[in-house]
Amino acid sequence: MSDPLDPCRAPDLVLASVRHPGEEICLDVHLRAGAVSAIIPSRRDSSALPAATRVVDLDGRYVIPGLWDEHVHMTQWALASNRLDLSGAGSAREAAAVVGAHMAGDTSAGAGNGAGAPGPIQTLVGVGFRDAIWPDLPSLDLLDGVTRGRPTALISHDLHSVWLNSAAAQQYGVPVDAGGLLREEPAFDLTRELGQLPDAVVDPWVWQAGQAAAARGVVGIVDFEMTWNPDAWLRRISGGFAALRVEAGVYPQDLDRAVAEGLRTGLSVAGAGGLLSVGPLKVLIDGSLNTRTAYCVDPYPNGGHGLLTVSEAELLALLVRARQAGFVPAVHAIGDAANQVALDAFEAAGIAGRVEHAQFVRSEDFARFGRLGVTASVQPAHALDDRDAAEANWPGRTDRSFPLRSLLAAGATLALGSDAPVAPLDPWIAMSAATARARLDGRGPWHAEQALTRQEALTSSSRGRGRLRVGDPADIAVLDGDPLTVSDAEFAAMPVAATLVAGRFTYGG
Ligand SMILES: [Zn+2]
Repeated sequence: MSDPLDPCRAPDLVLASVRHPGEEICLDVHLRAGAVSAIIPSRRDSSALPAATRVVDLDGRYVIPGLWDEHVHMTQWALASNRLDLSGAGSAREAAAVVGAHMAGDTSAGAGNGAGAPGPIQTLVGVGFRDAIWPDLPSLDLLDGVTRGRPTALISHDLHSVWLNSAAAQQYGVPVDAGGLLREEPAFDLTRELGQLPDAVVDPWVWQAGQAAAARGVVGIVDFEMTWNPDAWLRRISGGFAALRVEAGVYPQDLDRAVAEGLRTGLSVAGAGGLLSVGPLKVLIDGSLNTRTAYCVDPYPNGGHGLLTVSEAELLALLVRARQAGFVPAVHAIGDAANQVALDAFEAAGIAGRVEHAQFVRSEDFARFGRLGVTASVQPAHALDDRDAAEANWPGRTDRSFPLRSLLAAGATLALGSDAPVAPLDPWIAMSAATARARLDGRGPWHAEQALTRQEALTSSSRGRGRLRVGDPADIAVLDGDPLTVSDAEFAAMPVAATLVAGRFTYGG
């Protein structure tokens, strides 16, 4: 037994007076060299510690292993977080008022230029307006009147129109009439252009999004941004990003390059201080529920089985290639037929891996996840977002949609995530959806029999750790409440006091 007070083994940091969830006894957690070196009953007297040791008294708060979001599109999330939400506007006039209020309160016209340096004014982008239900019409004048010349482009909820002001029409060289609207192709083109921002703009937004995630107890993300990702993250981390660990996924179109550069899943990327490693190989094989392109055994009510976008032979070849190259496959499969195809391919290729989403699964496939060592990477908030769509499109079969309990009971490993920007990058929202199977809107739970316990949700959000132990990496979240006993509402909005990655505070402290 090593004595934690032995000066040679002295901790760098002591989290004093903390508790495991569900327990009363106060503990001191010693962190040394980025790992948990001891967990001992609290000693109120820290004078025995070397003077250099920092002691942070956490006053009986709760410690859990830091949380992971296993499925994120980080650039898209950062962009979405910097766009103005207009979904609540009931008229063009109200939407303009939201824009005007934002302009009045916004001091970040030059946002994106790093250290507060003045720079070119960024276009304000708004999203989510629904002009089909508005009693009045958008107009160029209305938007010009509230935007003080800052280029402004508002993208409709269905993405089929963009409402511009004069400054944006001029900046992007798109002619608009007095209505200020672009529709269809010109709208799609401008929307694409608005998403292509310089690194100097996007990186600080990613930095902010990382800080916001750390403030929710997140210590790591698996990033499935659909680009060549390792370089972008190395640039950000070299530039000071240190809020999270990042596993950067690779897509099949970049597999040759990744192999040529000697990358494989799990490899720590040099020069990133241990924060960056190569993530899985992401392979999409079907579409989505809401577009009725998820590939399903039974036909949709209005026909068709959805789409299998990669043939079974191609998928098998890709997984064999992944195995040879040292990549863990992460296969996007939403429909039950797609999940069957994915599991068949894992089995035939003789490789373990992950299925991303696993939203709809044949009962006979539940146990195959565990048997084949295929993790179900699931996003519980989608269950509540897609509740009506699932009932409409998978009628009589939703008992095996978002089947978290069935998968776990059959021996599968679950890994929880958000799929941000589809749902917010906040694991408490995901865990709340998984445990309550309900929003706090009084509608009542949906398939409550598929709910996880709080402990299961925490374990599935912390790479199977579930509880802080000696020898773990010092990736820790400190909570104001006991996550096992607080109310559903408090759990969904859990107050996080501090977060540490490798023994270093990324939030609080
Ligand atoms: Zn995704």
